[in-house]
Amino acid sequence: MNVYDSDRMTDVLARDGYDAVETAEDADLIVLNTCHIREKAAEKVYSEVGRLRPLKEAAKEEGRRVEIAIAGCVAQAEGEEIIRRAPIVDVVIGPQSYHRLGAALARARAGGAAVETEFPSEDKFDHIPSRARARSGLAANPAAFLTVQEGCDKFCTFCVVPYTRGGEFSRPVAKILAEARRLVGSGVREIMLLGQNVNAYHGEAEDGSDWSLARLVLELADIDGLERIRYTTSHPRDMADDLIAAHRDCDKLMPYLHLPVQSGSDKILAAMNRRHGREEYFRLVDRLREARPDLALSGDFIVGFPGESEDDFAATMDLVARVGYASAYSFKYSPRPGTPAAEREQVDEAVKSERLQRLQALLSEQQTRFNAAMQGRVIDVLLEKPGRRPGQLVGRSPFLQAVHVDAPAHLIGEIVSVKVDEIGANSLFASQMSPPLERLSA
Ligand code: SAH
Ligand code: SF4
Repeated sequence: MNVYDSDRMTDVLARDGYDAVETAEDADLIVLNTCHIREKAAEKVYSEVGRLRPLKEAAKEEGRRVEIAIAGCVAQAEGEEIIRRAPIVDVVIGPQSYHRLGAALARARAGGAAVETEFPSEDKFDHIPSRARARSGLAANPAAFLTVQEGCDKFCTFCVVPYTRGGEFSRPVAKILAEARRLVGSGVREIMLLGQNVNAYHGEAEDGSDWSLARLVLELADIDGLERIRYTTSHPRDMADDLIAAHRDCDKLMPYLHLPVQSGSDKILAAMNRRHGREEYFRLVDRLREARPDLALSGDFIVGFPGESEDDFAATMDLVARVGYASAYSFKYSPRPGTPAAEREQVDEAVKSERLQRLQALLSEQQTRFNAAMQGRVIDVLLEKPGRRPGQLVGRSPFLQAVHVDAPAHLIGEIVSVKVDEIGANSLFASQMSPPLERLSA
């Protein structure tokens, strides 16, 4: 979502005559888009701003003004504090106010710094031009993000999202469809629908009815030229029957699902306020695999949540072993100020580290096994961009694996069938095209 947000800020700024540049040294305006989900985020921002100070001062000596804006959830959480600690910052802007970026810059120019951390009543998406034009110097990617939902009402006891992104909000259907059609018109073949709690989506359709995420996916699947649909991040509690059915019925919905469970222990799941138990998660995974047998799963895990005993952790390891993940993110619990779990007795740091190591060893073994099973298989790859070597392109498999393919640049944006000949540490290598290249480019 931060990538998507950064692109939208680029669009807002393009309207005001800004062009994207490759390095901070070339910029008149530097926007740091920030994440606040785990600790040290704010400290990282302050040290990054410190690194930008000489750049700003050197420009000033040349008679050039360089502006610095801090955007995202750290901006939302820290607010005025950022200006106090880092007076060289000109604008502090929270994630719901990006459409006001131009006005905030103008205010900062008129004197002092501008801080925008309200949750404004108007919808920012109404005021953000979508992909007004291709960003200068950066080629449009055939795989795009599209935010359909923001914020969260679930209040898991470890999480800052409900505070920094605000309450749950679904964008209206018509606006999403219009944005999707525009993206496809500009060459996009794959759309990743985004939301902090994307499967809680319930957007208003033009006839006033409420559409679920499944209904939206099926409608998007009717757009000619759109070949692949994904969505992230899902909460197990919101995995509705119609969405499971969409995984069975809709070929464009890719067989890869990010379905975080956080812990395998019922006691910890309850303490996290996740509102489901481990058996419910197993049942859900079974139903999903029944609907789509080749579905690959990924997840998020937190180790060392307050109160997590060795038995609780063993339950997480057992859950991972039973489910089998194609990939996963795992984190040490990080106390976030203002959230309930931050006030509880904490697990020893060394214990957290040791558990994380064990969990990551298991997850990485599963990922290696999943990737190794691709050896010799023919899979479809959406070619997205040039690879590291000349004559090589990089794309994604249906299971979101990075695949390096020997193929000419004009095939960027095409979905091609390739045979996987080699499995790397983080990606697959494929060289043989099937059907042959001649037919594809014909
Ligand atoms: N809405 C999604 C998660 C969004 S946050 C869900 O409910 O699954 C992304 C991930 O960051 C979470 O899944 C969680 O694993 C991790 N995370 C969030 N807060 C955290 C914290 N305080 N400490 C460690 N990890 C955290
Ligand atoms: Fe955070 Fe996800 Fe829980 Fe919402 S559902 S509070 S975003 S972890």
